[in-house]
Amino acid sequence: MVDTLELSLRGFLVRGLPSICEGDQLATMIEERADLQDGDVLCIASTVVAKAEGRQRSLKSYEPSGLAMKLAGPLNKDPRFVQAVLEESKEVLLTHPFLLVVTNFGHTCVNAGIDRSNVPGDEQILLLPRDPSASARQIRNVLSRDCAVIVTDTCGRPFRCGVAGAALGCAGIAPIRDWRGQEDLQGRTLEITLEAVADELAGIANLLMGEADGGTPVAILRGLSYPREGGDLFWPDEKDMIRRHLRPASARPPV
Ligand code: GDP
Ligand code: MN
Ligand code: MN
Repeated sequence: MVDTLELSLRGFLVRGLPSICEGDQLATMIEERADLQDGDVLCIASTVVAKAEGRQRSLKSYEPSGLAMKLAGPLNKDPRFVQAVLEESKEVLLTHPFLLVVTNFGHTCVNAGIDRSNVPGDEQILLLPRDPSASARQIRNVLSRDCAVIVTDTCGRPFRCGVAGAALGCAGIAPIRDWRGQEDLQGRTLEITLEAVADELAGIANLLMGEADGGTPVAILRGLSYPREGGDLFWPDEKDMIRRHLRPASARPPV
């Protein structure tokens, strides 16, 4: 028999949000346009969180360092853009064929997630929020309902074709569901499975939001039970088995 309770996930887009500007109170703007319920998961595109937090910059405000100049040539990028990427990053993992970096808040992505799509102005760029989990907490704290908040971004993925939504930060929901200790169909105990629930939900939300001119940066997911505590979004350095192999051998910590 199909358990309809387990299949009750519904997703809604919040319609009618304007172009977001620095200082906008996203939580209030969302609540004015959506009937939130306790337990909803509010997924918000990092683009609008960043706009509200005043993370838009002009390329003119960047003074490229020697390193930025050196990297920019082969990448065919504006050295000021490369400088912005370097300033938002705590580590550069690849300099070719693109800049793969670890952002200051721990997310590994291309170009530190700096975007020019859906950003007004020719020389304007949009940085990611400085601390997306802090942004999620701040938004959640203003809501009148007990909702979880996930700040999402569209990300490329190693090994897989196509982009997909991922969680950059969250509040009121744990990033991970821990299946360890539960039994599989054969009665064998699961030993390693940590499920990236926040990323899975960000993927659904990103699917609803679209990437272009939809004007729909917020999706509400309803009808889920989700973990409230536990886990991290990003591997700490010493547990990241891939990242260490992207470093030059001289910079690798011992295995
Ligand atoms: P990202 O995935 O966080 O990089 O965000 P995208 O640039 O892909 O945008 C996701 C969705 O938000 C798309 O439907 C965009 O049209 C929409 N969007 C982006 N900026 C704004 C804005 O300022 N206002 C509104 N209403 N929608 C926006
Ligand atoms: Mn983005
Ligand atoms: Mn997107």
